[in-house]
Amino acid sequence: MSRQYWSKPLFDLVPYTPGEQPKIVDLIKLNTNENPYPPTPAIKHILAEFPIDHLKRYPDPESSDLKNCLAQYHNINSDNVFIGNGSDEVLAHVFMAFFRQENPILMPDISYSFYTVYCNLYDIKYQLQPLKDDFSISLEDYAQPNGGIIFANPNAPTGRALSLSQIEALLKRNSDSLVVVDEAYVDFGAQSAIELTQRYDNCLVIQTLSKSRSLAAQRIGFAIGNPELIEGLERVKNSFNSYPLSSVSQKMAVAAYQDENYFQETVTKVINTRTWTQAELEALDFEVIPSKTNFLFVSHKTLDAAKIMDSLRAKGIIVRHFSKPKIDKYLRISIGTDDQMERLIAALKTL
Ligand SMILES: *Cc1c(COP(=O)(O)O)cnc(C)c1O
Repeated sequence: MSRQYWSKPLFDLVPYTPGEQPKIVDLIKLNTNENPYPPTPAIKHILAEFPIDHLKRYPDPESSDLKNCLAQYHNINSDNVFIGNGSDEVLAHVFMAFFRQENPILMPDISYSFYTVYCNLYDIKYQLQPLKDDFSISLEDYAQPNGGIIFANPNAPTGRALSLSQIEALLKRNSDSLVVVDEAYVDFGAQSAIELTQRYDNCLVIQTLSKSRSLAAQRIGFAIGNPELIEGLERVKNSFNSYPLSSVSQKMAVAAYQDENYFQETVTKVINTRTWTQAELEALDFEVIPSKTNFLFVSHKTLDAAKIMDSLRAKGIIVRHFSKPKIDKYLRISIGTDDQMERLIAALKTL
């Protein structure tokens, strides 16, 4: 009987629905785009050697070592870097800091569904721009007055990517508004817009260590952009939670960037497995959208997507289906290990 204590806007709040994290351990989990490989083995030492005495102290609120590490890695300055507790939190601060404008912000009708959730949370007006029939982003539609632009590149859940020159043209055309590029999957084959942040003060890039660096559990994300954009984000962060990253997370993140060989090796494995899986799925009459990510967005020529999902689940394999207009015939399948994908294909052959 306590709903009477809720704030009024809470009644209309529609939260994000995360992919299921089942407790059953031997499932083949291809539903949340996690990396099938563990993070760099260097992290074992961090966990083993971390002095527990340090746990009584607050962590570095600025994550300075990590900022310096990212600055060096991406050949930028540390005042170009903002760190948050997962890119979801970074995105929340972006919406709060920059998108509360007179004009609506623009985003694709099919993209990361957290964007509209933040709009509802912060009472931000938005306008959805339809993707083209092939699921590519129709950039011409963004040439109109707006309070900002956001999209994922590569986009989710479609897997398609824009080129750097397309993004540059968009930045030029919209020099009066902030363009936010969410690069959660960029390491799996697309081009990063980080270099554009050095030439365009209206370009902000968001990345995460959850996908290509296998650290989803640690919640580490960052933004790269002009120092004044970063200052805006710091203002929101320091009005919300000054210590978004634990000391251990900060160390793990640095270790992930120091082991470039391991990173390249695992990303290459995922890409090769994706290529193999795509060919196998096409041989089974699936249409497969070309992917620059660690997942495939697929639709079967005759079988119903939700039914395929249920049959796979009965065989211990979980994939993601969005019952949303335009994409309800599609399944999003994360790329697992070779063995997991072989078992997926074998299961599909029995349907
Ligand atoms: C996974 C994902 C995120 C969230 O990443 P976290 O850093 O784990 O919060 C953000 N954007 C897109 C498009 C994603 O797929």
